[in-house]
Amino acid sequence: MDHKMDKEQLSAFLDDELLADERATVQGHLSFCEECSAYVERLKAASTDFKQFGSEKAPASVQNAAGKKKAASRWSGMDYAMAFTAFIAAMLVGGMMAKKFAPAVFSQIQGMISGAANNLGQ
Ligand SMILES: [Zn+2]
Repeated sequence: MDHKMDKEQLSAFLDDELLADERATVQGHLSFCEECSAYVERLKAASTDFKQFGSEKAPASVQNAAGKKKAASRWSGMDYAMAFTAFIAAMLVGGMMAKKFAPAVFSQIQGMISGAANNLGQ
């Protein structure tokens, strides 16, 4: 399996920070690479929950910055960043636990996620 995507690029893809051709490259890779698709889905799930979790606390400057390209990775709130990191870690550990202890369920979910990811790009 050819892994040209690094995690930063996948993250940028989710944040809609890529140029059109970069985006197409990532989408093409995600269409056949389950591992990267699963990573993107975990990141997306974490990011969605994180935004809900952080929306009450986020200062206006952060909310404004979120709308700008490349701003997402430069949020300065330490609590925000640490909560996000902890959340990602929890998601990754949870994913690994699921894979280890319930491989059938995991692959079923992963299949659903891959299908959803493919639909998103169309
Ligand atoms: Zn991959």
